[in-house]
Amino acid sequence: MASSPTWFEEGVEHIWLPYTQMKTATPPLPVKSTDGVRITLADGRELIDGISSWWAAAHGYNHPHIMDAMKAQLEAMPHCMFGGLVHEPALRLSKRLANLLPGDLNRAFIAESGSVSVEVAMKMAAQYFINKGEKRSKFVHFRGTYHGDTLGTMAVCDPEEGMHGLFKGMLADNLLTDLPRSPEEAERFAAFLKVNAPDVAAVITEPLVQGAGGMVFHPAETLQWIRQACDAAGVLMIVDEIFTGFYRTGTMFAIDQAGIVPDMVTLSKALSGGVTPLSVCVARDAIFDAFYDDDPMKALMHGPTYMAHALGCAAANASLDLFEQEDYAAKVEAIQHQLMAELAPCGFMANVKSVRVKGAIGVVQLEDASGLEQLKPLFVEKGVWIRPFRDIVYLTPPLVIEPDDLGVLTSAIREVLSGT
Ligand SMILES: *Cc1c(COP(=O)(O)O)cnc(C)c1O
Repeated sequence: MASSPTWFEEGVEHIWLPYTQMKTATPPLPVKSTDGVRITLADGRELIDGISSWWAAAHGYNHPHIMDAMKAQLEAMPHCMFGGLVHEPALRLSKRLANLLPGDLNRAFIAESGSVSVEVAMKMAAQYFINKGEKRSKFVHFRGTYHGDTLGTMAVCDPEEGMHGLFKGMLADNLLTDLPRSPEEAERFAAFLKVNAPDVAAVITEPLVQGAGGMVFHPAETLQWIRQACDAAGVLMIVDEIFTGFYRTGTMFAIDQAGIVPDMVTLSKALSGGVTPLSVCVARDAIFDAFYDDDPMKALMHGPTYMAHALGCAAANASLDLFEQEDYAAKVEAIQHQLMAELAPCGFMANVKSVRVKGAIGVVQLEDASGLEQLKPLFVEKGVWIRPFRDIVYLTPPLVIEPDDLGVLTSAIREVLSGT
């Protein structure tokens, strides 16, 4: 490899990387620029992106429509405080999301990161009951889910993901159970929720796919059963679409496949087209109404400094333009077919446990994941950016990827896993 740039050599001693054992990890790769589905490294090598920058860059990188919208917004106003002041990009975005989301999901609280939007949803649920004169301090969450890295969201992650053992005593005590995957399990779940309802503000789940938990799929019925159980028990339902939103599973939102309306939905990642940090928690009218009062103490007590960031909202509006102008459902369907056809041969390889595809998510799960770390550099050698984790090698490519480039990604997986 060519020598690294000076900024890398000088700065790498001072940076702290995510989810990384800094002592033993192989050094990160310096990136120079991005374009379309390609990442260019400082030494000039190009990688085809199979991950979309943690599932966010749905339209690929540097999309001219998003770049132009951001340049125009930058000239007018990159950011302005959202307390007592509002601006067009945020209000347009809120109206558009209300139109796109099902039912009466009509009120948007716009924040920066996904974790914060989940915190906001949890706070809304808890205060909803406080405002009604009830104290409910717990959340029901499911094995295998991921909802963020802050202390509040860690407490509704899978205990392993939230590292509950390590942070014992610091995380809120919530109620963990299994996702209902059959009518019998749905009945058991409904009974469990009913018994615990007096303490439970909301049930929180990821729809159709548990992403960070290892790309595990569940049927749309699961969401219907949870919705029914919540209705029967008088408990709110939060659906975290931060990974699944914006066509990743084939429809605009994963909940569209279940035909349900949660009480709160969280969105982030592809919300801004992967360009700026931006998230939103959208609530139904009945939630908003519980805060709408003459009593100032019944107001929602939350307000991040950079909330409703104007530049981010402009990017999100431009991203929504693209989703509206082009047929992303067809794009994802084509990706799904290609992933199925080209990853299927992995199913016959030794050490492969399963191959599964949903929308623009392709997963090869291994029997024995002990060698996964060593595979990472092999993908880079083949000119692709693929990051195996847990026991899976997976693809979540930009939704605009062309068949030839997707073919390079899938053949890299076949070759690396078969050792050729
Ligand atoms: C990524 C993710 C989050 C956290 O979002 P951040 O922006 O990283 O805080 C929450 N929930 C789900 C389902 C996610 O995939």
